[in-house]
Amino acid sequence: VKASTNTPLRVAVRALCNFGARTGDLDHRYTPAPTALEGMETHQYLARARGPAYEAERSVAGYCAGLQVHGRADGYDAAAGRLDEFKTHRGDIARLNPGLQALHRAQLRCYGALLCHQLELPAITLALVYFDIHSERETAFSETADALTLWRELENLCSRYRDWALQEQQHRVKRDIDLAALQFAFPEFRAGQRDLSASVYRALTRRQALLLEAPTGSGKTVGTLFPALLALARSASDRLLYLTVRNTGRVLALDGVARLLAAQPNPPALRVLELSAREQSCEHPDLACHGESCPLARGFYDRLPAARHAAIASGAVLDQQQLRTLAQRHSVCPYYLAQELAHWADLIIADVNHLFDQHALLHALMHQHDWQVLTLIDEAHNLIERARGMYSVSLTQRRLRSARKHAPPALKRPLTAVQRAWQRLLKTHLHALDATAQEIFLDQVPTDLHGALQRLISALTDHFSTEPGNAVLQDALFEAAGFLRLAERFDTHSVCTLSRPRRGEAVLAIHNLIPADYLSPRFGACAGTVLFSATLSPADYHRDLLGLPSDTARHSVASPFSAGQLDVRLVDTISTRWSDRAQSLLPAARRIAAQFRREPANYLVYTSSFAYLDDLQAVLQSLAPEIPVIGQQPGMSAAARQQFIEGFTTASAQIGFAVLGGVFAEGIDLPGRRLMGVFVLTLGLPPHDALREVLRQRLQQRFGAGYEYAYLYPGLQKVIQAAGRVIRTPEDTGIIELIDDRFGHPQVRRLLPAWWPR
Ligand code: SF4
Repeated sequence: VKASTNTPLRVAVRALCNFGARTGDLDHRYTPAPTALEGMETHQYLARARGPAYEAERSVAGYCAGLQVHGRADGYDAAAGRLDEFKTHRGDIARLNPGLQALHRAQLRCYGALLCHQLELPAITLALVYFDIHSERETAFSETADALTLWRELENLCSRYRDWALQEQQHRVKRDIDLAALQFAFPEFRAGQRDLSASVYRALTRRQALLLEAPTGSGKTVGTLFPALLALARSASDRLLYLTVRNTGRVLALDGVARLLAAQPNPPALRVLELSAREQSCEHPDLACHGESCPLARGFYDRLPAARHAAIASGAVLDQQQLRTLAQRHSVCPYYLAQELAHWADLIIADVNHLFDQHALLHALMHQHDWQVLTLIDEAHNLIERARGMYSVSLTQRRLRSARKHAPPALKRPLTAVQRAWQRLLKTHLHALDATAQEIFLDQVPTDLHGALQRLISALTDHFSTEPGNAVLQDALFEAAGFLRLAERFDTHSVCTLSRPRRGEAVLAIHNLIPADYLSPRFGACAGTVLFSATLSPADYHRDLLGLPSDTARHSVASPFSAGQLDVRLVDTISTRWSDRAQSLLPAARRIAAQFRREPANYLVYTSSFAYLDDLQAVLQSLAPEIPVIGQQPGMSAAARQQFIEGFTTASAQIGFAVLGGVFAEGIDLPGRRLMGVFVLTLGLPPHDALREVLRQRLQQRFGAGYEYAYLYPGLQKVIQAAGRVIRTPEDTGIIELIDDRFGHPQVRRLLPAWWPR
C-alpha cells in the first residue's frame, strides 16, 4: 500500500477553480468549441502581438493554506504590470455563459494571487481577454486587484479544497488498506476461478494487457473484480474501470460488487459508481441540457457541492437508482451528477464507449488528471464491432437539404454551397452509381464537399452563438461536424462510400475497418487492462484489430466442465451455403425432430437469417406438428424478448428458433433443464457484400489474414457463443449439433473450444 497521508497536497489552479469556483447553470448546447490547434495558434498570435518583452506562458506556484498550488497564466507584461488570460470563443460575447466567465475570472485571480506573492507585488492588473476566432476581435475585461484581496480569495478556495483533498487522501489510504485485506466473495473458488483470478492479478500488478479466455461458468465477474481490486491497492493505481458492452453486463457487475461487499466483515472504503447513457438517466428527455430549458441544469453548479458531499458521505454503491434519488434530493441532473462523481469514484462500472469513443469521458479524465487506471473489459469479443461503430459516420444529403428549408437567410448561402458540392460529387460518380444498386468506394473523402462543410459548420456555429437553437439546424451541425471530425482522420483504417438509395437521398459514409488505430492510444493510457470473454481466440485477431500492445499476455482458463457433460456432433453431411439452403431444410429438420423425439426437452436452433429461420420452422412443423415451437421475430420489443426467454422453463419442452448473432445468441442464461441442446445451422460467416470484401482486402494487406479476420473468426465466434448457451453449471448436460459440411474442415475444427469432446 503506497498511498500515504504524508504526501504533500498539490493542486493545479484549473482543478482548484473547477472544484470551488464553478457556479450557475450547466450548459451543454452543442457548439463546436475551437479546436486545440485553433486555441494554441490563437494564444501564440495574441502573445506575439504583445511584443518581444512579453512573457508567454508564465508559470506561477506557491503554498497556500497547506496546499502546493501551481499553474500557468497565458502571459505577463512586466512593464505594464499586467497578467493576461486568453480564451477563444465564437460570436456575441454577451452570450457567453456567465458561470463559465466567472470561472475564467477566478482562474485569473488565482494566477494573480500567486504571481503577486512570488514577486512581492502590492497589486496587479488582470486582463481576461476573449478572442473571437471568427471576427478576430479581442474583448478584454481588465481590473486592478490588490495582492491581499487576491491572496484571501485564494486562501478561501484552498481551504475548502484542502478539507476535501485531506479527506480524499485519508480515504485513499483507508481504501488501499481495506482492499489489500479484501476477502473473496465465497468460501471457495469455483473450478478454474482461482487460475482466472491469479492471471488477472498478475497482469494488473505487472501493468500489462491480458487477453483472458474463460469459459462460461468460471465465475468471471467476481473472479476478475476481486483480484483487480486487490491489484488496485497493491499497485497504487487511482481507479478501476469495469467496462461492459451491454446494460445487463453492468447489472451483473453491480451484483458482483454487492456479493464482494457482503462477504467483508466490515464494509471497505470503496466508492463504486455506475455510469449510464443519457437516455437511461435523463429526467427530461424532451428538454435540452442548458439552464434555459431544463430545471435540473439551472443552477446545477450551485447545488453540485452539496450533492457531491452527500454522495461521498453516503458510502453507498452509486448505481442508477441511488444516483437518481440523490439527484432528486438536490435538484440536479442525475446524468451530469454521475459524470461529476466520476472524478471521485474508485470503481467505475460503465459501457465501453465511456473509455473508447471519440468523446469518451473516462479517457478525458485520465488524460486531464494523469490517472493510473486499471481496466477490466467484459465480453471483450464484442469490442471490435462496437469500436468500428464508434468511428464510423454518415452524412445524408436529405438532412442538409431539409436544414436549408429551416435556415435564416444568412445560412442559405453555405447550405446551398453544400448542396452544390453534393451535386458535383454525384455528377462525377453518376455513371458508377447508376451501374450498381450498392455503394461505391471512394479513395478519399471528397475535398470539394469537405471544404463546403467546413464553411457551413463555421456559419452554423456563428449562428448558434447569437440565435437560440433550432433542432433541424442543430442536427445538421451535429451531423456535419461529426463527419468532418472523422474525415480529418481518414486513413487506411477506414473506407469512404457513396450510395444513393433513392434520388435526392445520397449518403456519404466513413466506415471504420480497423479500430486499432484509434484504440491503441487508449489502451496505451491504461496502466493495466484485462479483456475477458468466453471467446477470444485466436488472440492475434483481437490484439491486431484492437491495437493492443505487442507484449499483451494471453491466458486460457481450463473449462470447469468436463467433456462428459457435452455431446458435440459435427454434422458435415449437410451444406447450409446459400445455394444449398433449400436442400438442407428437410435433412436438418429431420435431425432436430429426431433429437426431440428421443429426448423431449428445450432446444434452440440458430440459423443465418430470418428467411432461413421461417423456412426451417415451417418444414419442422409440417414434419412434426406435435413439437411445440417458438420463433424469434425481427425487431422484438423488450417485453416480447423476455417472454421468449421465459418460455424456456424447467417443465417445458419446445424448440426455439433464433438468428445467430441476434439477441438470443449470447448473453442469455438458461441453466439446467431450461436448455438441453443447441443446433447451429451456419458457420456464422458475415454476408458476402462489397464492403466486407474491401474489409477482407484491407485486413489481408495489413495483417496477411483477410479471409480469417473478415469472415471466419467473427463467424465462429458467434457459433461458439451460441453453443455456449447449453452448459451453464457443473450439473448441466446437453448436446451441441453443428450442421454444415465446413465444420468438418480441420481449420474450422481447430477453432472450436479445446474442452469440447471431438
Ligand atoms: S435532466 Fe436531461 S435534459 Fe436535463 S440536464 Fe439532465 S440530461 Fe439534460
